[in-house]
Amino acid sequence: MIKKQYRPQKPDSAFTLLLSILLFFMPLLFTLNAQAARLAIVIDDVGYRVHEENKILQMPVAVSIAILPDSPYGRKMAEKAHQQGREILIHLPMAPLSKQPLEKNTLHPAMTQEEISRIIQDAIQKVPHATGMNNHMGSAMTSNLSGMEKVMQVLSQYHLYFLDSVTIGNTQVTKAAMGTTVPVLRRNIFLDNVQTEAETRQQINRAIALARKQGAAIAIGHPHPTTMRVLQQTVAALPRDIELVSPSMLLHPIRADKKESLHIQQTKRKCAQANKSKFASIIQWDDLKALASTLVHEGSSNALRQYLEKHPGNPPKQDLGQASGKKKSQQKSEKAGIHKTSDTCPTN
Ligand SMILES: [Zn+2]
Repeated sequence: MIKKQYRPQKPDSAFTLLLSILLFFMPLLFTLNAQAARLAIVIDDVGYRVHEENKILQMPVAVSIAILPDSPYGRKMAEKAHQQGREILIHLPMAPLSKQPLEKNTLHPAMTQEEISRIIQDAIQKVPHATGMNNHMGSAMTSNLSGMEKVMQVLSQYHLYFLDSVTIGNTQVTKAAMGTTVPVLRRNIFLDNVQTEAETRQQINRAIALARKQGAAIAIGHPHPTTMRVLQQTVAALPRDIELVSPSMLLHPIRADKKESLHIQQTKRKCAQANKSKFASIIQWDDLKALASTLVHEGSSNALRQYLEKHPGNPPKQDLGQASGKKKSQQKSEKAGIHKTSDTCPTN
């Protein structure tokens, strides 16, 4: 009589691999998301003071620069910064309420759409490689809805985000961008309204505290000697929980709002406890995607990707491999000021 030998079923190798990776990395992923606070620093008014501005080029590349289009050294700075991989913004002059000397080609609310279009096109030519725009001065222009709507109409033809410098409380920038494809960011902290090292240092600390509280913050400074000295000392030695990023990184949906991110994580954890077998639904898809793409073994990466694409509860396919779809939906959220939160568990 032949004795039947017990043979354990061989589990699917891709599934086993996925399970191992998830169990190993999941605590790390949650820890990173819960701790990271992102800080963007932009230096405005670049193009006039080469000596000070060259110091920015020696800082980490995440420190971004906003260049005045009609400045004498703007183009040269744009080229040098671009070679470093540094993010560049067009620092577009806009009319202030107070009387003060104005840059050439300063936008006024009464200008026609054609005039504004010509000035922006000209600025794009003069500041090559720019990915965003922010306002120089602009208390009169940015508080004028119809004026800013004309700006947004023009910007929607280019792939530029708009960083509102917030030079007036009654800014209409976000409202003007609604219904367009222009993503909008807002400045939180000015580093050097008072040009002393002590004050600038204090403002950096405020920006860090705000980043921790909100998950992200944007600080704007200028090429003053005091600002440069303080940044040289502080930027390279930021606290470990602060991630220095370029402004466009804050257009990314994950962790742009720490509260939202934490809320989603808490909901996902609750769902995970309710149904442990649906573990694939509770992870941060973006983190897993990044993990999959950085796995050294190409076969492992493919197996993981295939599994994710087949598994119920997956995000749409373009979320796994195509950034453009995600960017579009984020742009819509940004312009509408929508922050999606949900208490319900993900369904298949
Ligand atoms: Zn400025």
